[in-house]
Amino acid sequence: MRQQSFIPVAPQSHFPIQNLPYGIFAPAAGGPPRAGVAIGDYVLDLAQLEQYGLLETDFFDQPGLNTFMAAGSDVWLAVRAALQHLLDANTPTLRDNVELRQKLFFPQSQVVMHLPAQIGDYTDFYSSREHATNVGIMFRGADNALMPNWLHLPVAYHGRASSVVLSGTDIHRPYGQTIRDGADAPTFGPSRLMDFELEMGFFVGPGNALGHPIPVNTAANHIFGLALVNDWSARDIQKWEYQPLGPFLAKNLATSISPWIVTLAALEPFRCPSPPQAPPPLPYLQSEGDWAYDIHLEVQLQSAQMAAPAVIARSNFRTLYWNMCQQLAHHTITGCNMRPGDLLASGTISGATPDAYGSLLELTWRGSRPLALPGGETRKFLEDGDRLTLTGWAQGDGFRVGFGEVTGRLLPPLPL
Ligand code: MN
Repeated sequence: MRQQSFIPVAPQSHFPIQNLPYGIFAPAAGGPPRAGVAIGDYVLDLAQLEQYGLLETDFFDQPGLNTFMAAGSDVWLAVRAALQHLLDANTPTLRDNVELRQKLFFPQSQVVMHLPAQIGDYTDFYSSREHATNVGIMFRGADNALMPNWLHLPVAYHGRASSVVLSGTDIHRPYGQTIRDGADAPTFGPSRLMDFELEMGFFVGPGNALGHPIPVNTAANHIFGLALVNDWSARDIQKWEYQPLGPFLAKNLATSISPWIVTLAALEPFRCPSPPQAPPPLPYLQSEGDWAYDIHLEVQLQSAQMAAPAVIARSNFRTLYWNMCQQLAHHTITGCNMRPGDLLASGTISGATPDAYGSLLELTWRGSRPLALPGGETRKFLEDGDRLTLTGWAQGDGFRVGFGEVTGRLLPPLPL
């Protein structure tokens, strides 16, 4: 019999007692940001749990989870066990104390969420073979789709942490330099080819000292948990600027993340094998065990005219070629130091079939096959007023370990 909470949780809820994701919230009625866990439609206030002596820790009365992330997996597991006990249907401590419950639980509709951590550094990988192949075919042709390095190392670029924003933040169409097909000089103006990227990211827990790489087979000890990521992308800016050093302004306008961090402990039942790797990676990238996760992912688009969002893609985190342990080992093999709260994103998660592509670039094949939306509109790239929402969950037997959502609207460019 699976564990139940005294807090009612619907089978479709993303936040059963098996999940307990961490986030930073503030009551809408007022009060400082602090840590909480999501349970059903509520947030349990962890800062107050500490103040009442119900948690013997000192991590949660803070506006970020960084110190808790730094504490490591033994502490994470002890806190998770304590929370699962307190929330259990058979534990009377909170269940039978109405006064305490009213202080400790906030309806999620009555809180404001904040970024879950102070994100010092952000890196974006490119770990979906299907995505890299699709983009390669479009830009270089089928014969040169994958660059020669791609099957040997997890390609990535250093992103911009300052513009990582929380779900609900609307984005203005950015300005930049672009060059039209066939033109011999660039022009300046608002991007015409705005896109999203369906990604997941993980937050680093304990870091490593400068000069000391994280070995691939202990890398999981450095992973606190995962969130949904939308890597907003200006394709026309990207196409002109990306050679030879990779994306720069096409990606730094904003990166949106979901507010709740789902821990590896909550995802443990959903571990599964990654796609086979051939040729075998070099020894420092050889990962033992299964480090993919079966997480169903969906992309929804709602235009200003549409009454409801439409699902435009369905994918799965398990399809990624390079796993998180390999990404972390590769990122640090030079001795590069990770710090608690650093965010490492997967890259666009595209599946094998056209309905599983994780960007409009692929879904519309660079605009050549416009997407039909309910109500008669079509899309090649994002239009002003479009709302983009990513969601995802791992399906258990009668429960879901879910990620909630990351959502945001594309708004017209601000006047310069
Ligand atoms: Mn990306």
